[in-house]
Amino acid sequence: MYTLKHDEAVCAACPSPDCLLKCQYMDLDKDQAHEEMMKVVRGEDSLVLQQCMTCYACEEYCKRGNHPYYLICERREEKDILTAARPITNQWINLTTMQGKFMTGAVQDTAMSCCFIPDLGGLGSGKLFEEINPAFVLGAEFMCPAVHTHFARMSVIKERLPQVLDNFKKLGVSRVICLHDECYGTYTSIAPAYGMEVPFEPIHYMDYLVERLEALKKDLSPLNTTAVYQRPCSNRLIPEKYPLVAEIMDRIGVEIKEREYHVSGYRLADDIQKKNIDDMAATDAEYCVFNCPFCQTTLSKKVTKAGLKPIHMIDLCKMAIGEK
Ligand code: SF4
Ligand code: SF4
Repeated sequence: MYTLKHDEAVCAACPSPDCLLKCQYMDLDKDQAHEEMMKVVRGEDSLVLQQCMTCYACEEYCKRGNHPYYLICERREEKDILTAARPITNQWINLTTMQGKFMTGAVQDTAMSCCFIPDLGGLGSGKLFEEINPAFVLGAEFMCPAVHTHFARMSVIKERLPQVLDNFKKLGVSRVICLHDECYGTYTSIAPAYGMEVPFEPIHYMDYLVERLEALKKDLSPLNTTAVYQRPCSNRLIPEKYPLVAEIMDRIGVEIKEREYHVSGYRLADDIQKKNIDDMAATDAEYCVFNCPFCQTTLSKKVTKAGLKPIHMIDLCKMAIGEK
């Protein structure tokens, strides 16, 4: 069984427990943050195990790579602390079980991963994806299981992720373009955190978009519009990819408006969601740009009501090359 690479001594000697100090959902001072994290480390009861909203952000805040979020999830599971009602937790496990119903296209050296989200197949189409679209893969067998962290079921991840990696290995691919931010986060953050070897080079779709927008430069017409960006929780696992949003928006002529809040997560209370939407509306931007299809599904109605047009980043790029 895989175990989390976590060094207790690193937390014990941590000069700035940013993991919890910066947490948007807990109001702890420096001493309290350190004390609560050490309780988590020692496997003791901590308010963190009750109050964490599973936003993933502490994985980004910890500059020592000591995986506070994965540790919180591990401890919750050990203590059987549920983050959602048990039927919902189990429903997610059952819904995403591998049943041999996956689909693969003409995959050769490179695959285009649509995870377990059929809509990603539609997004990964047109001129931007013409070279790799036939090589799509879709289904539970190729799904990143990171969603189970929201339910503190790390055992499901430890069981399924090696199978997913093995399924890609059997395809014989050397590169996988990840259309789901969370897949890239899973292969580059969760897998190494548990010592799992990834048998291919994961490529974030935003890196691919930059490459394609450059290749299709002659077809580009700047959109000359404004937008706010809804950063998904999974992007907290891969903060090095965050600057790509500005780069892509710059290339297609979209001005990203500054925001005060950047909230995401599975268990957001209504007042937090409202703050998030009010914050977007206050910018007067035309679009709300999504990276994650789940965020888009959850927030689209509210965003529209607030006067913004919800759109996935890929669709905005398609507009800029005259496809939408
Ligand atoms: S998880 Fe990271 S930031 Fe938090 S106490 Fe440990 S080393 Fe410090
Ligand atoms: S995952 Fe988010 S809510 Fe939970 S402790 Fe980390 S920063 Fe706080």
